[in-house]
Amino acid sequence: MSSQLPDTQDYDYDVVIVGYGPSGVTAANFLGQYGISTGVFERAVDIYSRARAVTMDDYTMRLFQQAGLDHKLMADMDPRSILRWKTYDGHEFLRVSSPDTTYGHPANSQIFQPRVEKTLREGVGRYTDSVDVHFNHEFVDITQDSDGVGLTIRDHTTNTTREVRAKYVLACDGGSSRVRSLLKMELRGKSKPTEWVIVDAKVKSWWPERDLLTFWSDPDRPVVDMPLALGHHRWELPLRSHEKREDFESREALWELLAPFGVTDEQVEILQHAFYTHHVLMADRWRKDRVFLVGDAAHMMPPWAGQGMQSGVRDAHNISWKLRLVLEGRAPDGLLDLYQAEREPHVREMTKLAEMLGFFIEEPNPTKVAIRNRALPVLQKLPGIGPVIKEFRFKPAPTVKKGFINGHVGRGTAVGRMIPQPTVATRNAHQSLLDDFLGDGFAILGFDTDPREKLTDAQITSWETLGATFRTVRSTTHAPHTDDDLIDFTNVLMPWARKHRVSVVVLRPDRFVMATDRTGLDIPRLAGTYVQSPVTAPAA
Ligand SMILES: Cc1cc2nc3c(=O)[nH]c(=O)nc-3n(C[C@H](O)[C@H](O)[C@H](O)COP(=O)(O)OP(=O)(O)OC[C@H]3O[C@@H](n4cnc5c(N)ncnc54)[C@H](O)[C@@H]3O)c2cc1C
Repeated sequence: MSSQLPDTQDYDYDVVIVGYGPSGVTAANFLGQYGISTGVFERAVDIYSRARAVTMDDYTMRLFQQAGLDHKLMADMDPRSILRWKTYDGHEFLRVSSPDTTYGHPANSQIFQPRVEKTLREGVGRYTDSVDVHFNHEFVDITQDSDGVGLTIRDHTTNTTREVRAKYVLACDGGSSRVRSLLKMELRGKSKPTEWVIVDAKVKSWWPERDLLTFWSDPDRPVVDMPLALGHHRWELPLRSHEKREDFESREALWELLAPFGVTDEQVEILQHAFYTHHVLMADRWRKDRVFLVGDAAHMMPPWAGQGMQSGVRDAHNISWKLRLVLEGRAPDGLLDLYQAEREPHVREMTKLAEMLGFFIEEPNPTKVAIRNRALPVLQKLPGIGPVIKEFRFKPAPTVKKGFINGHVGRGTAVGRMIPQPTVATRNAHQSLLDDFLGDGFAILGFDTDPREKLTDAQITSWETLGATFRTVRSTTHAPHTDDDLIDFTNVLMPWARKHRVSVVVLRPDRFVMATDRTGLDIPRLAGTYVQSPVTAPAA
């Protein structure tokens, strides 16, 4: 593939996004922020009204912080970290509560997906200079050559068809992705046989413990009972083998489903219901030449860990910052090959977590359920395993295991891990979360040292070419030297650096550590060239 693209005027857009769900709108926000000419084509005229995703965690919120949208999103969310498992007769056999981590946002918040999407779409409104959004425009066909991608788009408002040409395409068109099918990118995995009915309601009158996310564990009919943000509530119930969708078309049938929880039309107004099956599916490849699958188009997992939409958000950020570097001519096209390598392992971890939680929720075998319900209260009391269960520590911490990093994730190593995000202060005592001082690209932090002093001149030039920001973190016992110094007055970063025995770290745009003075501070090598060739000389 040619790394030298023809002149921009040969293209309608640098990037076309097909589909404007959570993944597409996230990519549009980041590409807009980077000033990349972007065209979005969305088949629907409005936001999909069914609330699907219900939670958002600190990893995802940290990315939205970088998009400048965390405060707006948070205003419509309910931070909530307790999950509990109960039997129908009221016996609570498991309660899990994730303590807030150090990433700067609540470990878990309940959301209302249509509102999240609305806020994200408003965010894209900041970038009308570079991002065009076309609703009621359906993607129909695709062709690729060595320099670009041609898309056939049907405008349903005018009933006309147009051809659009772009350098790269992000297929954010969901689980039934037409882009994926046309490019013959295969989905592998399985779909679960059970159908679930989802009942979405608006709260009229609060009932006892309505705010606790409860899994009613009954092998005959397990039920997920969830408070959502903005006064919404949701129940998810599996259909029994003899039941059909038609059995639940009437409101009376839905009220009957909710009756065991004591919920009537005095407590809630039922807004809508829908039927879903769950999938464990992943595309074998997420890139075909200039086209990338993002979000549900690339992978689908059961909803139990609340990670499906969030995985799409992370994909969208990952591919967007890589595209930025390549389109700006600062990194070779090979960087884009690392998108799947970096994202797939985390998606697989989250899928495994969802399947494990599924065992706690939907296991139909009465014997296994009886053993589980008796064992869990005992296990929770054991000194070693108890806290792991009760504090949800079995949710893996975010890591980048391979890809654009120097080194490997291992015990005690910083590389590949997300750096904590405390509140820090500047010399004039302005306080904010760490990332607010680091820009939206690479950042190089020195701990009680100017990071430039640990880099060779060539390394400094290379990192500057990639747009890196340089900052010194000072402990609160030291006076800052410059306006760029950040004071770690909550005493989080300096102990973290000592624990990992590092004095300089390079952070990627997603705030994973990609290099340290222990692993070498060069830009990782890729096939192709950077504008400034990567340097290999050891740091002075
Ligand atoms: C019951 C349920 C509960 C869930 N709970 C959670 C949760 O708690 N947390 C979580 O993170 N995730 C959850 N999910 C998953 C989450 O909803 C999805 O992962 C997420 O919506 C996927 O976003 P996406 O943008 O990739 O795809 P989608 O949301 O499917 O968006 C795709 C977009 O592409 C458009 N499109 C499709 N084809 C075309 C075309 N040919 N041309 C133009 N446009 C097109 C569609 O109209 C749509 O707007 C849940 C899902 C379900 C079903």
